[in-house]
Amino acid sequence: MSEEVKPIIRAEQIAQLAQDELWDVVVIGGGATGAGIAVDAASRGLKTLLLEAQDFSAGTSSRSTKLIHGGVRYMKNPRDWGLVREALKERRILIQNAPHLVHSKPFILPCYKKWEREYYTVGLGIYSAMTFGGYGIGRTSSLSREETISRLPGVKTEGLMGGVQFYDGQFDDARLNVALVRTAVQHGALALNYFPVTGIERRGGWIQSLTACDKETGREYRIRTKMIFNAAGAWVDPIRRMVDPDASTLVRVSRGSHILLDKSFMPGETGMLIPKTRDGRVLFAIPWHDMLLVGTTDVEQREADFDPKVSEEEIAFMIETAQGYLAKPIQRSDVKAAFAGLRPLFNPQATGSAGSTAKVSREHAVIPEYGNMITVTGGKWTAYRKMAEHAMLVATLRHLIAPRLCVTKTLPILNDTRWDPAALEVEAEKSDAADERVVEYARYCRDYEMARSAEDVLFRRLRLGEMNEARTAALMPKVAAVFASEEAAPEAASDEAQVDEAPAS
Ligand SMILES: Cc1cc2nc3c(=O)[nH]c(=O)nc-3n(C[C@H](O)[C@H](O)[C@H](O)COP(=O)(O)OP(=O)(O)OC[C@H]3O[C@@H](n4cnc5c(N)ncnc54)[C@H](O)[C@@H]3O)c2cc1C
Repeated sequence: MSEEVKPIIRAEQIAQLAQDELWDVVVIGGGATGAGIAVDAASRGLKTLLLEAQDFSAGTSSRSTKLIHGGVRYMKNPRDWGLVREALKERRILIQNAPHLVHSKPFILPCYKKWEREYYTVGLGIYSAMTFGGYGIGRTSSLSREETISRLPGVKTEGLMGGVQFYDGQFDDARLNVALVRTAVQHGALALNYFPVTGIERRGGWIQSLTACDKETGREYRIRTKMIFNAAGAWVDPIRRMVDPDASTLVRVSRGSHILLDKSFMPGETGMLIPKTRDGRVLFAIPWHDMLLVGTTDVEQREADFDPKVSEEEIAFMIETAQGYLAKPIQRSDVKAAFAGLRPLFNPQATGSAGSTAKVSREHAVIPEYGNMITVTGGKWTAYRKMAEHAMLVATLRHLIAPRLCVTKTLPILNDTRWDPAALEVEAEKSDAADERVVEYARYCRDYEMARSAEDVLFRRLRLGEMNEARTAALMPKVAAVFASEEAAPEAASDEAQVDEAPAS
């Protein structure tokens, strides 16, 4: 598909927006949920507009544990098994549709107590068996102590009795998100980042239009639409309050954090599942981009910040927990980077759940409200396609969109092969030898991948921002120069010209 990839000119996109057309569908939020809905809607032939307040995936969708999985933690409760089975099906579908971004990965759960190996072999055996019908990606097997040590180098050997191996999917979340946006655009959607929705106008019980603002020029646009999907993740409530200032609180948020360590702490390619942390959760240590990703925590957070910060307590907790399973001593100074994301969880009052945020179900919600708005939230990255299909079904049943078949089950996700960012970031993380190529790639991201700043390149088109804080800081000024006015001038100039002609606002 690479030869079909065309540059995306923001000025042209804005000119199209300014034509004051009536959209079939406007999607608010360019994370996994919104991008998934945009792909579904556009590939059904609907006139689709996607608006994102920050960069695509800058919300939670670039800050995940990078797993495409059924969720082994849900195996504890048979009532959640339906959810697990559905996610496992989606895992297989995604590996088929985006093999360049999602791959299968072996994991080992190391066992230090006699009963653990049998117990977890049964549990994880059921997990694999749930993929019946051709959705499997690997079998669960029980490992001896020697097999565990050889397949999971770095594991603490003292007291180790064996292990259980199983398979799940791993992916690059931000890159998949951008690929989804590009796929939607390829199917005719219009997608704009740095374009927050600032107001929604409703008359006679029906949303007529919304207002969005180009953050780069400050110009506001009034956009007419037949319906809205509110896919603003942890921020769905502020969007709902643009329609009804008294709207209830649908989601609360919890923070999940990760740390990045050198790969020498666990040098193989197999991930590790720690089945029970001090606070009763699971924790992963996963080789990712030639580093070791450890996470996640679950801490209640009051405010939904666009850039949530990892606390020192969380870092200490992750180091302490991982240390219980890894032989090499981990110091605070070994943490090369840390990042956090916000889980949007249904309000327990709305779901009837109670207790800590860790107990609230991750299942998604599709909530039609205010005549022609559908709020879609919760769920997980793995299920984004199914969530989009569900949301579109609800829209169809409510006669908000024309009935058309969903085609995303077999729809390939755009594969741009001109660059290999995964190889580039691994090299750039280790030394400055690849700096010039990073700068060249930044120009490509500016012209083809809708990057608008050095952060967009270093945190989401490349993943250095999540991998190594020191290297990211060193590269920031060099990459920022690509977006400085002199170099980016041709597009900025044409941006102005188009905006001046715009009739809306
Ligand atoms: C720590 C953590 C780890 C996770 N790990 C995994 C995992 O390994 N596997 C998995 O399957 N799932 C995982 N998840 C879940 C998954 O990441 C989320 O379910 C998913 O990313 C949510 O996507 P979203 O699009 O709904 O939200 P977001 O990605 O947050 O997108 C919402 C977007 O709306 C935008 N927005 C807000 N206000 C406006 C506005 N006014 N106008 C326009 N746009 C607006 C925001 O900027 C944001 O980009 C994890 C979640 C967390 C928190």
